[in-house]
Amino acid sequence: MQSRIIYITGYGRSGSTVVDIALGMHPEVFGSGEISAMCRHVWRENEYCACGNRIKECAVWGPIMARWTQQYDPAGYFALQRAIEPLYAPARMIGGRKLGNFLAQSQALFSIMRDETGIPIILDSSKAPGRALALAHDPSIDLRVIHLVRDARAVAHAMGRAIPLDVARGIQKEIVPRWAMRTALRWRMYNSVAERLHAQLPAEHFVRVRYEDIARDPVTEFARISTTVGVDLSAIASLMAEGEPIVPAHQMAGSRIRMKGPLSLHYDDAWELEMPETARRQVEFVAGEQLRRYRYVD
Ligand SMILES: [Zn+2]
Repeated sequence: MQSRIIYITGYGRSGSTVVDIALGMHPEVFGSGEISAMCRHVWRENEYCACGNRIKECAVWGPIMARWTQQYDPAGYFALQRAIEPLYAPARMIGGRKLGNFLAQSQALFSIMRDETGIPIILDSSKAPGRALALAHDPSIDLRVIHLVRDARAVAHAMGRAIPLDVARGIQKEIVPRWAMRTALRWRMYNSVAERLHAQLPAEHFVRVRYEDIARDPVTEFARISTTVGVDLSAIASLMAEGEPIVPAHQMAGSRIRMKGPLSLHYDDAWELEMPETARRQVEFVAGEQLRRYRYVD
């Protein structure tokens, strides 16, 4: 039987952690956070889970990883990730032993996760499109992809701000401010590769959603997501539409908002008021074609 994985792809600071938390409130969905970070640094550094415990002490992840690490080495999986998940990898990395090992080890983790939690559907919000392109090659995985986009100008504005290190609040490393031009280029590349997933999957297993639309009208957008992921999210969407908070569970990596307890989703228009004109024009210059395609500019 195929195992269903819901994957959120796209660029950073696009609301993937909020969507992970919201979908994770459904009893059949385990909102994992960014699983790709587990072997990259979360397990090694014993970082914090959204439940407030460090990952090795978390009642859910502790036993899952204890079982998985009996069979596999996190450093070995990380080495495979470095070959498979980067943006430039998918074109030359179709097939091969590394891909086989990556898929076998990923599947083993998913299988232990289902077994330990008793929850049938895993949500992975790793974002990296290369990871999803690899998972799409596994015939035993029923992959459902949410391509989450957010206005590149809002993303560039958010990334232009520094965030100091604060491990207990989920900031595992200092976040340095990034130039708008750099963010716009990377936003374009990530979203272009994410778009390729559309061709790798049955059309009904891929949906593109704008973060701003979810914030404004969760009922409509979650209905679209429900169709793609095969889970009825209407109850969660209604809660969100009424301004009720959504509650993090065991999202093991992602935005710092997962560490703050219940949260509500609102449209953040700070960039419209605060973003310097030069930075805005740079982003529109670099990312203009996709901004138009995603209906952010005319
Ligand atoms: Zn936890």
